[in-house]
Amino acid sequence: MAGTIGFIGLGNMGGPMAANLVAAGYRVTGFDLVPASCDAAQARGVIIAASVAEAAAGADVIVTMLPAGRHVLSVWSELAAVVPAGTLLIDSSTIDVDSARKAHALLADKGCLTLDAPVSGGTGGAAAGTLTFMVGGAANAFARGEPVLQKMGKRIVHCGGAGAGQAAKICNNMILGISMAGVCEAFVLAERLGLSHQALFDVASTSSGQCWSLTSYCPVPGPVPASPANRDYQPGFAAALMLKDLKLSQEAALASGASTPMGAQAAQLYSLFEKLGHGGEDFSAIIRMLRGVAATP
Ligand code: NAD
Repeated sequence: MAGTIGFIGLGNMGGPMAANLVAAGYRVTGFDLVPASCDAAQARGVIIAASVAEAAAGADVIVTMLPAGRHVLSVWSELAAVVPAGTLLIDSSTIDVDSARKAHALLADKGCLTLDAPVSGGTGGAAAGTLTFMVGGAANAFARGEPVLQKMGKRIVHCGGAGAGQAAKICNNMILGISMAGVCEAFVLAERLGLSHQALFDVASTSSGQCWSLTSYCPVPGPVPASPANRDYQPGFAAALMLKDLKLSQEAALASGASTPMGAQAAQLYSLFEKLGHGGEDFSAIIRMLRGVAATP
């Protein structure tokens, strides 16, 4: 047995991540507020606890995978009251940098080690154990957490001190939101000019317009067969999650005084797209709104 890990938040991401830790030989004690999520995790070998404190009891490492900063601060406050010195706490949720730093501070004088370690790779990456982890925290905490994260991901990057993982995540996703909007606009313009999707793809994918949103996640069907555009924009990465990350980037920009006008535009575009009823679609489906045809969901 490799050790005991407490896992709080067994939803779409946390469930499969906890299952990968079980498969790697850890004893995993899990907790979630939703009984169905607990049942699904139990079927994959997670021992279900009745509370956060019970899931943490006897664990050397505790992972949280929760919706937002307020949930993480609430659960980490509970943990701060019960975990012994020497415990490693890892939060893999995507949350605002300020809450991430507050979470680290909650445990700072308890003799615990703490990491913020948000992920990219989505539910597919969580199930396959191929997530990328962007990690913030002290070097000794990272050294202890890295072998655990390797059981759930394929790329683990130490980005700096407390909050640096969350900072890297929202900066990356701000690029993604802006670049996807730009690629979609180019395809809409090409359509109006009578230029075929394939012709634009063939030129831009090998020219200075090349980017991940075009070559790995092309927002029109055809050029990249695996992209969500080929399956009526089933996610993938839902537009609502993109909006969440863009909002986090704009909160951070406001708090830090950074000017991010393109990020602000992207946040507004995705906010409008969600209000039109498309939050559950893949984020590349925003091309439909840019064509002017998404007003009726
Ligand atoms: P989810 O809503 O499916 O899971 C979150 C779980 O946390 C829920 O099951 C909820 O019941 C549980 N929870 C909330 N408060 C709790 C508490 N106090 N105690 C115990 N459990 C509690 O969300 P998800 O898709 O698994 O995402 C989790 C995090 O990962 C989010 O921050 C999200 O932004 C991030 N993320 C998601 C994806 C994705 O593709 N789904 C990709 C990258 C990052």
